[in-house]
Amino acid sequence: MSLSFNPDTVAVPRGHHIGGKFVELPGEEITVLRPSDEKPMGPITDGGAAAVEMAVAAAQSALKSSGWAAMNPRERAKILFRFAERIEARAEYLGQLEAMGSSRLVSGTITGDAVRTASVVRYFAEYCDKLEGIVTATKGDTLSYTRRQPYGIAGAIVPWNFPMITAAWKFAPALAAGNAVVMKTSELTPHSLLALAECAAEAGLPGGLFNVLNGWGHTTGAAIVSHPAIGIISFTGSTRTGAAIMSLAANSGIKPVVLELGGKSPQIVTRDPGEMDAVATRVANNFMVNAGQVCTLPSRLIVQKSVADELLDRVLAKTRTIRPGPTWDETTTFAPVISARQFDRIDALVQETVKQGASVLTGGTRLEGPNAGNFYAPTILTDVAHDNIGFTEEFFGPVMNVTTYDDLEEAIAEAQHPVYGLSASVHTQDLKVAMKVADAVEAGMVWVNQHGRDPEFTYAAGGWKGSGFGKDMGRAGIEEFTRQKAVWINYL
Ligand code: NAD
Repeated sequence: MSLSFNPDTVAVPRGHHIGGKFVELPGEEITVLRPSDEKPMGPITDGGAAAVEMAVAAAQSALKSSGWAAMNPRERAKILFRFAERIEARAEYLGQLEAMGSSRLVSGTITGDAVRTASVVRYFAEYCDKLEGIVTATKGDTLSYTRRQPYGIAGAIVPWNFPMITAAWKFAPALAAGNAVVMKTSELTPHSLLALAECAAEAGLPGGLFNVLNGWGHTTGAAIVSHPAIGIISFTGSTRTGAAIMSLAANSGIKPVVLELGGKSPQIVTRDPGEMDAVATRVANNFMVNAGQVCTLPSRLIVQKSVADELLDRVLAKTRTIRPGPTWDETTTFAPVISARQFDRIDALVQETVKQGASVLTGGTRLEGPNAGNFYAPTILTDVAHDNIGFTEEFFGPVMNVTTYDDLEEAIAEAQHPVYGLSASVHTQDLKVAMKVADAVEAGMVWVNQHGRDPEFTYAAGGWKGSGFGKDMGRAGIEEFTRQKAVWINYL
C-alpha cells in the first residue's frame, strides 16, 4: 500500500472543539500554511478569553453531569479505551492531517504518530484504577492516609513539532486521572489535534471533558493560564514562553505548572562507541530527524579525538543522502522547517554563530527542495566557543556543533550547559564510562547508545534547569495531574 496522498483531498477540521462539537466563534483569523508548499490549509480564529470561558463552562458542566472524577475508574478506563480504538480506526486520516500540517513525514505519521497517540491513551487508561495512596504510620486509635484526586480542570498548551503525540502526553493522563481538559493547539499546527477531539466525542467521551481551542499564545494561551477555574497548567514549548507562563500562573492566583521546555543536548561519542558506521548513522539521524525540530535534539556532538575524523567523514556522507520533499510523499526522508519565520530564525542564528568565530563543516544554507517549502541544509559547525550564541541558544533546526575531547572528565565538563538540562546521551561499549556519564551529566533524561525517546511509554520525560520541571509520560506523568490529600481520622 502506498502511503503517499494528495493533500488537496483531505478534509480539514474547522473551528474550536468545545463541549463535544466543533464551534465557530468570532475572532482574529489566523492563516495556517502547509510547511511543505506554503499553501493555506484552512484558517483558524483566535478564541481568546471568550473561547476559554466557554470551554471552562463546558468542562464544569460535563464534570458535574458525567461524574467523571468520582466514577468507578474502570468505567473511565472503558471510555478511554474506546477513544484509543477510535484513533486507531481513523489513523490514516489523522496521519495524513499530521503530515499535511506539520513537518512530520507521512512515512511515519500513520503507523507512527497516529497509532502511537492511540497507545498513549490506552497506556493511561490502564492507570485509571492504579492511582494509589498510602497509609502512614501513626499512633493507635488514629488512621492517616493519602489519596490522589484530580484538579478539576487541567489547562494544557502545546507546540508544533509533534502536534498529536505531545498533546496526548497531556490530555490522556489528565483525563485518566479524572480531570476535564482545556487545551490550546499551536497556531502553526492546529488541525490534527482538533481531529483528535472529534475522535474523543465519537468514542462517547462526555462532551466538555476534552476541549481544544485555537489561538495565539498571548491571548488564548494566557487566558487559559490565568483562568481561576483551571487548577493546573501543563505546558510544552520554549524556555522563554515557559518563564512567561510561570510568572502569569503565579500572578493570577497560585497554580502549579509543569514545564517541558527547550534544550541544547549533548551527545558524547567515546573512543569505543561500537561499530562505527552504525554509530554514524545514529548520530546523523539524531540531528536530522524532523529537520532538527525536536526538543531533545543532540545539538552538541562531543567526540573523542581518536575517532572524530572517521565519525565525521561518515556522518557527512550520510547528510548527502537525504531526500527533501513534501511531507505527503512517502519517499521523502528530510522534512521542511515549519515556517518561513522559523527558517529565517535558524539561518540568522547560524550566520551569527559564524560571525562570532565558528566554522561551517557543511550546510549553513537553504536546501533547494522540489517545491516551495523551507528546507534548511543539515549543518555542522565547529569552533563554537561557550560565549558564542550558537552555544547559548537553541537552534531548533538541523544544526549540530562538534567539539573533540581527550579524556572523559573533559567530555563531561563540556556536556554541562549553563542554561539547559533536558537530555544527554553517551555512545560507548564501556559500561563504566556509560554509568559515569549518566550519573554526572546535568539532564533530566539520559540515554546510552541511542538518543531520543523510544515508543516505550514508561519512560518519564522532562528536563532540569532551564529545560523545565515535572514529567510527561510514565507513572509520574499521570501523577502530575493529581493532587495529594492527607486524611487524618481520630477514632478514639
Ligand atoms: P513556543 O514557546 O513559541 O510556543 C508553544 C506554545 O505556547 C504555543 O501553543 C504558543 O501559542 C503558546 N504561547 C506562546 N506564548 C504564550 C503565552 N504568553 N502564554 C501562553 N501560551 C503561550 O514554542 P514553539 O516554537 O511552538 O515550540 C518550540 C519550542 O518547544 C522549542 O524551544 C522546543 O525545545 C520546545 N519543546 C520542548 C519539548 C519538551 O518536551 N521539553 C517538546 C517539544 C518542544
